[in-house]
Amino acid sequence: MSAVPQERRVVTAIPGPKSQELQARRTATVAGGVGSVLPVFTARAGGGIIEDVDGNRLIDFGSGIAVTSVGASAEAVVRRASAQLADFTHTCFMVTPYEGYVEVCEALAELTPGEHEKKSALFNSGAEAVENAVKIARAYTKRQAVVVFDHGYHGRTNLTMALTSKNMPYKNGFGPFAPEVYRVPVAYGYRWPTGPENCGAEASAQAIDQISKQVGADNVAAIIIEPVLGEGGFIEPAKGFLPAIAQFAKDNGIVFVADEIQSGFCRTGQWFACEDEGVVPDLITTAKGIAGGLPLAAVTGRAEIMDAAHAGGLGGTYGGNPVACAGALGSIETMKELDLNAKAKRIEEVMKGRLAAVQEKCDIVGDIRGRGAMIAIELVKSGTKDPNPEATAAVAKACHAAGVLVLTCGTYGNVLRFLPPLVIGEDLLNEGLDVVAEAIASV
Ligand SMILES: *Cc1c(COP(=O)(O)O)cnc(C)c1O
Repeated sequence: MSAVPQERRVVTAIPGPKSQELQARRTATVAGGVGSVLPVFTARAGGGIIEDVDGNRLIDFGSGIAVTSVGASAEAVVRRASAQLADFTHTCFMVTPYEGYVEVCEALAELTPGEHEKKSALFNSGAEAVENAVKIARAYTKRQAVVVFDHGYHGRTNLTMALTSKNMPYKNGFGPFAPEVYRVPVAYGYRWPTGPENCGAEASAQAIDQISKQVGADNVAAIIIEPVLGEGGFIEPAKGFLPAIAQFAKDNGIVFVADEIQSGFCRTGQWFACEDEGVVPDLITTAKGIAGGLPLAAVTGRAEIMDAAHAGGLGGTYGGNPVACAGALGSIETMKELDLNAKAKRIEEVMKGRLAAVQEKCDIVGDIRGRGAMIAIELVKSGTKDPNPEATAAVAKACHAAGVLVLTCGTYGNVLRFLPPLVIGEDLLNEGLDVVAEAIASV
C-alpha cells in the first residue's frame, strides 16, 4: 500500500495555484486536442487518493479510467517494475525475448474463461489489442466484416474509431474510417422501448437479423462486444443477450471477441465480466487494469485462432515491454493476494446501497447500474427519461470542488461513473459517496 495518506484534504481552490500555473504552461505547449477531466496536476497517488501539487488530496473514483485497480503505487507493481528497470528496459521481444512476456501470457491463459488451449500476444494499448484481434480473426476466417454494437467503444486509432459508435469527441472530422465495419443494436435495458424484461431476447433477435440480412453471416470475421459497455455508459447488456450473440457467432464460424479492456481484471468482481453469464469468448482483449498503470495490452484466445496469423504478422517495437510485463505480474499478484474480486463485490454492495438511497430522494437519478467497482448512475430530467447532461456536468463539478474525482460517460453525456481503485478503504469510499450524494442533492 502506498505511502500517500489515505484521507481527503482540500487546502486550496481546485485546481490550486500551482496547478493553475502548470495548466498555463500546458496550454502553451500541449496540443489542444488532448483534454483533461480535471486540471489538477498530480504529485503522487496510491490507494484511494490522488495528491496534487498544491497538497490537496482527492478521493479517486476514476483509477485513471479503470487502470489502477491495485492503486497507483502498488507495492508489488513498484517492486517488480523497479527490479526489471534496473536489469534492462527493452530488447524488443521480436529481437531477443525475455521471460516476463511468457509469464504474462501464461497468467492470461490461466485467468481468462474457458478450459481450451490458449495463446496470447502483447501490445501497448487497448486500441492496438482490438486492432490485432481483428487482424487475427480475419486471418483465421479469411473473411472481412466486423460487427460491433451501438454505444460501443473500442479506441481512437483509425480502425478502432470505425468500431467506436460515438461521434463527438472520438470521430468528428477524423474520417474516412476503415471499411467493412457494421453496427447493430445492443440490449440497453433502461432505454429499450418495450422495457428491460424483453430487452435481451428482442435486442439479440434484432442484432442477429440485421447481421444476417445486411451483412451475411458468412462474411463476418468477428463480432466484438464489451461485456459491460464502458464509455457508452456502463451498459450491462440485458440478460440473455451475450449468450445469444456468442451462440450465433459459434453457429456461423464467426470469431466472438470480448473487449474486456475496461471490464476485465477484477473490475466487475470477476476476473472477466463475461463470466457472469458463462460466456466463453474465442478471443478476449485486455489492457487498462492489467498492469497497475504501466502500458500493456493483450489479445488472448483459442490457440488455433491465435496461430492463424503468419510468423512476423503480429507485433510491434514495444509490445509486451519488459517493465510493463513486470508491472502486470505485480498487479496480478496483488489481485490474488488481496482477493480484489471480493473487494470489488463489496464496493458494489456499498455503492449500490448508498446510491439507491440517493435515488429515493432525487428523481433525476434515472438508473443505477453496473457490477463490482464499475458502477454508474444515469441522470435524467425530472419525471422523464430525457438525458440530463447539464446536471451530470454540474454534479461532477461539485464533486471535484469538494475533493472527489468522478468521471462522466455515456452516449448522451448523462452518466456519472464510479471506478475506484479496488484497494480503496471503506471509510474513504463512504466519504466519497457522501460528497456525491450532497452534490446530487444540490443540483
Ligand atoms: C479504453 C478502452 C479501449 C482503448 O484502450 P486504449 O488503451 O485507450 O487504446 C478499448 N476498448 C475499451 C472497452 C476501452 O474501455
